[in-house]
Amino acid sequence: MNDSILFTDVRVFDGTGRDPFPAEVLVTGNRVAAVADRVPADQRAAARVIDGGGGTLIPGLVDAHAHLGFGSTVEHRSPRRDEPDEEKALLVAHAGRVLLDHGITSAYSGGNRLPRTEIAARKAFAEGWMPGPRFRAASWEGSAGMVEPGVYDFPGIDGRASEPESVRKFVAEMTDLGVDIVKLSLSGESAVVQGTSRIVQFSDEEVAAAAATARERGVWLTAHAHAAESIKMAVRHGIRAVYHCTFADEEALDLLEAARDRLFVAPTPGIIHANLYEADSEPEPGMEVEETRRAVMEVVPELVRRGVRVVPGGDYGFPWNPVGRNMRDLALFVEWFGFTPAEALRAATQYGGQIMGMGDELGLVAPGYLADLVLVDGDPLADIAVVQDRDRLVAIMKDGRLHKAPAS
Ligand SMILES: [Zn+2]
Repeated sequence: MNDSILFTDVRVFDGTGRDPFPAEVLVTGNRVAAVADRVPADQRAAARVIDGGGGTLIPGLVDAHAHLGFGSTVEHRSPRRDEPDEEKALLVAHAGRVLLDHGITSAYSGGNRLPRTEIAARKAFAEGWMPGPRFRAASWEGSAGMVEPGVYDFPGIDGRASEPESVRKFVAEMTDLGVDIVKLSLSGESAVVQGTSRIVQFSDEEVAAAAATARERGVWLTAHAHAAESIKMAVRHGIRAVYHCTFADEEALDLLEAARDRLFVAPTPGIIHANLYEADSEPEPGMEVEETRRAVMEVVPELVRRGVRVVPGGDYGFPWNPVGRNMRDLALFVEWFGFTPAEALRAATQYGGQIMGMGDELGLVAPGYLADLVLVDGDPLADIAVVQDRDRLVAIMKDGRLHKAPAS
């Protein structure tokens, strides 16, 4: 039995952003063993050879805002949100396989109404008997007061007593379930409940309580944050992943920049694009979709200029924005935010490994790194959209195992 695979005749995009270079890549077990002009004869002797045909070998892609539980993929549309829990669990497993089929070998969850389903999926994916990405599981998005987590029906903090204790309890309960990430909806969401994106839903004391509990219990916090004050609150309390960042003002930008070594921003262009152009009905004005698009198109280039790590992940999982389309975010990074294709790919690979908390062993094609690799038939640096086409991803490897091998 051989456990080595040698990719020959490939150009390697190693994830750092440097130009692709011709090389051979040897995988032994679940790690990259060598990246060289030509791997020495004694190392290649026992390896299975995959002729890359001049394609581009890139690190496995990472989605930083994945929803396995929203129900819809490119293969199966599930507009209902009220399936029985058992069916939802199957949809989660299905979504994991669809992600892997699209070269997404790692995913950082953006929340799940049934966290246990993705905790179970995380285990099955890691054990390898069910196809799916490396996975960081999340709680549902806690909303203010924790009356009914995940329902954006809170009009604002006016008139509501601050409840740090209930927030602390939410974080502790989610941690006990086994999540890696607890998510707080610090602002509302106009696309769900019109006119709420600029409303801050939590008090400062509540977020402080969440942060202290998360630190004690060793979980990460993610913030859903459109409103400027909600972004500032997230940064001040050390929240690690800040989603959207739509209406960041100058002070919020300064805070994000100062914290750039410890946080990530995911602006979620995919869902904005889908709400504008692919939903069944025209967006209502109160959904602020166009305002959101204009705002992130200004904010994101400024964040990049300030050295903040901006990562892809666009809320895929809705019927009009299905799982599997995730890497359209990269094309939108280029079109909307002015990234070069290499910068967009770096965000999905090197920074992806970092947001997974595995930056020293995930996200690069480099000796010693975990062998999560995608062989692309084509040059994603010439056309970033090629990574959206599963037929052009001719080999997909996760943890040294070929999920997809080239047709021979
Ligand atoms: Zn989301």
